[in-house]
Amino acid sequence: MSEDKAQDEQELLSDSGSDESGEEEGSEEEVGSWITWFCSLKGNEFFCEVGEDYIQDDFNLSGLSSQVPYYDYALDLILDSESLQNEVLTEAAQEMVEEAAEILYGLIHARYILTSRGLAAMMEKFKNCDFGRCPRVFCNGQACLPVGLSDIPRQSTVKLFCPRCEDAYYPRSKYHGNLDGAYFGTTFAHLFQLTYPQLRPIKPTDSYVPKVFGFKIHPSAWEQQAAKRSGAAPQQQQAQQQQQERARQAVGNGGPAAVEQQQAQQQQQQPEQQPDGAPAPAKS
Ligand SMILES: [Zn+2]
Repeated sequence: MSEDKAQDEQELLSDSGSDESGEEEGSEEEVGSWITWFCSLKGNEFFCEVGEDYIQDDFNLSGLSSQVPYYDYALDLILDSESLQNEVLTEAAQEMVEEAAEILYGLIHARYILTSRGLAAMMEKFKNCDFGRCPRVFCNGQACLPVGLSDIPRQSTVKLFCPRCEDAYYPRSKYHGNLDGAYFGTTFAHLFQLTYPQLRPIKPTDSYVPKVFGFKIHPSAWEQQAAKRSGAAPQQQQAQQQQQERARQAVGNGGPAAVEQQQAQQQQQQPEQQPDGAPAPAKS
């Protein structure tokens, strides 16, 4: 943990100078575009620069106006357009517009990176290892791709997909850990691989082998441990046996109808036995 922190701080130190100058340029001097400024911000390294002509085409933005508040203002901000700049916004409203612009850019970005130009822009970033490397030892520092677990905003943060082991990981930097996964989407990483099959790495042949004193752990060792554990805590088994016994007694007393009745009663009682606020059982 402390290593990660130190690395983050180091990244912050090395990058903060350029960030500050970028911020000034974006707000006052108009030297760089909003898009260039936004993509240069700390934590936004996963974003490529979306072509302005792509954003200017309404067809590419269909449906986004209902998803983003202050849509027109946000779009103006992204495009450095001046059509609404004469309107005076309160400081709070201005902040909300800036927030909305980030969301809007993210959602446009998710669409753009599925186009041939977007894929090409992301390929350059992939080649530069801008998305980070797989932490798995036997992937030998394989460059990763950003992936969302959902295409709906605010469902989950961005993850890293390793094309070698084909698994998903949390990004190392906490800045990237806060990015919305929907800004990259569920399709991009895999469409990228289909588009550039030459960049697809060879599957890893080595894997980590757990050993104790130099010996591999035999599967039977886990079975023995499981048997020991169930011997120490046989409460569940006992409860099942008791239930079966009661059912057998009921058969003796009143036949199958009585068993059904008893089972129905037990099912009705079960929810009451659970403590309030108990989490629902996980669906597998
Ligand atoms: Zn990997």
